[in-house]
Amino acid sequence: MKEKLYTIPLNDAVNAGDECPFCFVERNLEQDMLDFVLGSCASYMEADMRENTDKEGFCRYHFKKLFEYGNTLGNGWILKTHYMKMRKDLDKAISEYKPEKTPAFNKILKKGNANSIADWVKSREESCYICNHNKEIYDRYMDTFFILYKNDEVFRKKIADSKGFCLTHFGDVCDNAMAKMGDKEREDFFAMLFPLMKSNMERMQEDINWLVEKFDYENADKDWKNSKDAIQRGMQKLKGGYPADKPYKPAK
Ligand SMILES: [Zn+2]
Ligand SMILES: [Zn+2]
Repeated sequence: MKEKLYTIPLNDAVNAGDECPFCFVERNLEQDMLDFVLGSCASYMEADMRENTDKEGFCRYHFKKLFEYGNTLGNGWILKTHYMKMRKDLDKAISEYKPEKTPAFNKILKKGNANSIADWVKSREESCYICNHNKEIYDRYMDTFFILYKNDEVFRKKIADSKGFCLTHFGDVCDNAMAKMGDKEREDFFAMLFPLMKSNMERMQEDINWLVEKFDYENADKDWKNSKDAIQRGMQKLKGGYPADKPYKPAK
């Protein structure tokens, strides 16, 4: 069963006790991919790997991560052949563009025709070698989550006692529960999950409130309680990710 592969890292993510286990999983996946793309195994020198990065490219977010990782020659190789491919595709998109007259009706609505070059650029923006790969593995973690939740009592209890999820991954969990659970199972799951999310959003609110109050001179000597890192956790809880992370670089 391929899910077995993901059981241990998913349990590690839950045991970490962060604001969201799927953020934890995502961060590990991303770091593994950065190591794979630019790390010491030098996969950027392999033709079949670069054939994929040439084709799929990277999103803005992951270009920044690749830049911060700091392998100049590796990034150079990746960009060199990616540019060759992109220039060819740009030539094709431009040569295939056919100017059309705007229909009178559209003129009234001040609406232009669709532009095939803009559509091509948009499809490029949505394509990223790292995002595509991570999405695939992330889906398998989602499968594993529901398999464990249904079959492993210890795991079920850990989730019930956890801090819940960030709002983004909570949405994914709700969505996946529709296809991956029976009606009764889902009813029980949501009866646990919704109060868990509400109480943890409330806890987050209290941490943020106390952080603000700590700046009042009357509270200067009082304990920070759990509020010292409330900004990064508060941001994570709403959108996912780890805002306070330093750029990820190869292990020395
Ligand atoms: Zn998350
Ligand atoms: Zn990406």
